[in-house]
Amino acid sequence: MSELAVHGGQPVRKKLFPAYKYIGEEEKKEVNRVLDSGVLSRYLGCWEPDFFGGSEVQTFEREWADYFGVKHAIAVNSCSSGLQCAVGAIGTEPGDEIIVSPYSMCISATAPLWYGAVPVFADIEDKYFCLDPVSIEEKITDKTKAIIVVDIFGQPYDADQINAIAKKHNLIIIEDCAQAPGVSYGGQYAGTLGDIGVFSLNYHKHIHTGEGGVIVTDNDELADKMRLIRNHAEAVVEEKGASDLVNMLGFNFRLTEIQAAIGRVQLKKLKDLIEERTKNADYLAERLSQIPGIKFPGVREKATHAYYLQPFLYDEETIGVRRDTFIEAVKAELAATELREQEGVLIGCGYVKPLYLMPLFQKKIALGSQGYPFNNSAVKYDKGICPVVEKLHEKILFHHDLMRPPATKSDMDDVVRAFEKVYSNKKELI
Ligand SMILES: *Cc1c(COP(=O)(O)O)cnc(C)c1O
Repeated sequence: MSELAVHGGQPVRKKLFPAYKYIGEEEKKEVNRVLDSGVLSRYLGCWEPDFFGGSEVQTFEREWADYFGVKHAIAVNSCSSGLQCAVGAIGTEPGDEIIVSPYSMCISATAPLWYGAVPVFADIEDKYFCLDPVSIEEKITDKTKAIIVVDIFGQPYDADQINAIAKKHNLIIIEDCAQAPGVSYGGQYAGTLGDIGVFSLNYHKHIHTGEGGVIVTDNDELADKMRLIRNHAEAVVEEKGASDLVNMLGFNFRLTEIQAAIGRVQLKKLKDLIEERTKNADYLAERLSQIPGIKFPGVREKATHAYYLQPFLYDEETIGVRRDTFIEAVKAELAATELREQEGVLIGCGYVKPLYLMPLFQKKIALGSQGYPFNNSAVKYDKGICPVVEKLHEKILFHHDLMRPPATKSDMDDVVRAFEKVYSNKKELI
């Protein structure tokens, strides 16, 4: 008779994992306060004091800037729009190249396209999965303008090496720290390691306002331009007396007063929420790494990790079973998570398909039907251009999302039991 649930045996756990739900009475109270005020947003798209938004937005920005020890925080309606502001504000020209990561949420690689710039994919590190400094340097040409680094899964990029490369080649660094709010590198917060950092406040992130984002920078001029792009730059520049019109074609990327009020409360919860995740993730790292062929790759020197997701490495040769088969069997032993039931067990093989394999890059169709902005560029998106990410994604990496509080050690023990059970019965899978 079969032991494994994937073949009809009893699963390790049937009870759902608890929902990650940290919106409470404090947020309700603040939302009601804003509702009672009647001012749900206060922006005006012209050069008036209200160009900067209402009091909740401005207070939220001040508190965010103080928390992260940075001069400017600019609230926006998503990390995606924040990245667009950043790419515009640095003066990106059509035809410029911007080095991006293939292993991230798509906007980390597509933001340059909105300004006619061409994303150039560099490969990632086989251990920490952020952009690999060696690969970055190989991809630099005289057209390279910037690098969009991603603090993937919750740990910062290799700031020492990549910042040095950027300095040497006079490149700007935009840091996508959507998955790493509150982590540090050499004692400095992620988001403040490059020229511009962009955080996400969407529902799935450590803290959230439903949708939302925050841009941070110490650079006054870039901050100024990003505020303009956020709020109808073209209608504001004349009155403001701004003479540089490059990319001063704006959007409405504004966060509302209600969202800002929620964000202020959420920010206070960030530190504790990361600590809870870290406890669970550390425990799993230790326990699962005792299984031959499964390994937590560790945390970068000088860095902390926020465990947006926790990655593991799987060695098919040691275990003798294909990764996908093994993980499928582990998932069959476990249960889904409350509020995310439709997604099934929150364990995944790989992360996202390497981004250059999306139809957008394969067919080179982005803006309009004629291949702009790829049609004037020799940049390639063929399968094989980033071998490390492809191999990790296809065979080696798996991740999970089960460390989020209020899950505790006893929930993690079920995860460990599931992996151990599948390992001990792996013969059933061969
Ligand atoms: C979530 C995420 C984004 C996008 O954030 P939004 O606020 O949803 O636009 C960008 N980059 C990374 C790495 C993310 O995880």
